[in-house]
Amino acid sequence: MALVSVRRVATYDPEALYRSVCQHFDALHVADELTPNTRVLLKPNLLAGRDPAFAVTTHPALLRAIARRLRELGVTHITLADSPGGVYTAASLRRVYAACKLSSLADVLTLNEDNAYGEKNGFSIIRPVLEADFIINCPKLKTHGLTVMSAAVKNMFGSVPGLKKPEMHYLKPTVDTFAATVLDICETVKPHLTIMDAVDCMEGNGPGNGTVRAMGYTLASRDVYAIDEAGVQLMGIRPILAPLIRLARKRGLCDPAAIETAGDTLVPANPPFTLPDTIITREHSLTPNGIFRLLFGRKRTYPLMVPEKCIGCGRCAESCPRHLIDIIDRKAVIARKGCISCFCCQEMCPVNAVDTARKQP
Ligand code: SF4
Ligand code: SF4
Repeated sequence: MALVSVRRVATYDPEALYRSVCQHFDALHVADELTPNTRVLLKPNLLAGRDPAFAVTTHPALLRAIARRLRELGVTHITLADSPGGVYTAASLRRVYAACKLSSLADVLTLNEDNAYGEKNGFSIIRPVLEADFIINCPKLKTHGLTVMSAAVKNMFGSVPGLKKPEMHYLKPTVDTFAATVLDICETVKPHLTIMDAVDCMEGNGPGNGTVRAMGYTLASRDVYAIDEAGVQLMGIRPILAPLIRLARKRGLCDPAAIETAGDTLVPANPPFTLPDTIITREHSLTPNGIFRLLFGRKRTYPLMVPEKCIGCGRCAESCPRHLIDIIDRKAVIARKGCISCFCCQEMCPVNAVDTARKQP
């Protein structure tokens, strides 16, 4: 059986989070695996430099609570590392840490500024992940325009450095091939423990531009696939809609019947999380109407720039794996031909200036 520890935590109150982390550590016997010399890595979701109030990134208060517990257990080597969207440099990491209010954690852990990476199983992986003895995956529970859900498994894709991530979208342009690659990466850098920030989650146009949905939980598990099953249940979304969950089950990495929970009761969202605009078509393809559309002309979703909102920052252009976006007169302009509907552009836009449009493929 795979165990998922569930704790209700209504807000980011430091003491309440600390208590939940201690309960997770006890339930999962985490202390048994740690010594003073264990090099522990915290791998948060740092998609982009956003204030924690927007629920785009893992909240610093949860990361502090984890570091506090680790230090009490005598662990001295605690590093926080991730590769946010865009370029992967010391300067860009510092900017993201500051915007995400992580700089204040420097008294309890080391904020990685090393942009080196190595290779493992054919994937480029940032060095702190390769060098860690014990990886604690710290995802945020969110919707995602391509993979429907961004949680534990998807968070490990952030082990790929900077602009190597759009390259992978280019090489794996369909949802299924991309999901298979994300799963391969997760198997390559499998976390020893996952502690999920599901206090304030994101619904709608996640992972970067959705709306905050307060759920009031932290979840933890040794099993990265089992915790995603609990996450999708919490979102109230049918698991079949989430490609990473479908594929993990198909590969035999997860058996939902062999998951047990401990701690508090997990109450699914009611109403369920609003899905991203980009995948509503895909959900409808499982309904009678959608099957009709599949047979007689299913529409595909494409990005649509909103010039009134665009500030011409160029982050969408930098992240587009097909190099289809130009900045003209300080506005983003997309050439749709060749677009693979990966929505990296929408994910990286800081002002929600990338909308969606549908047309026949
Ligand atoms: S335009 Fe946007 S959705 Fe299309 S390939 Fe580029 S990043 Fe992906
Ligand atoms: S669409 Fe968004 S990411 Fe692209 S240039 Fe405009 S503001 Fe920046």
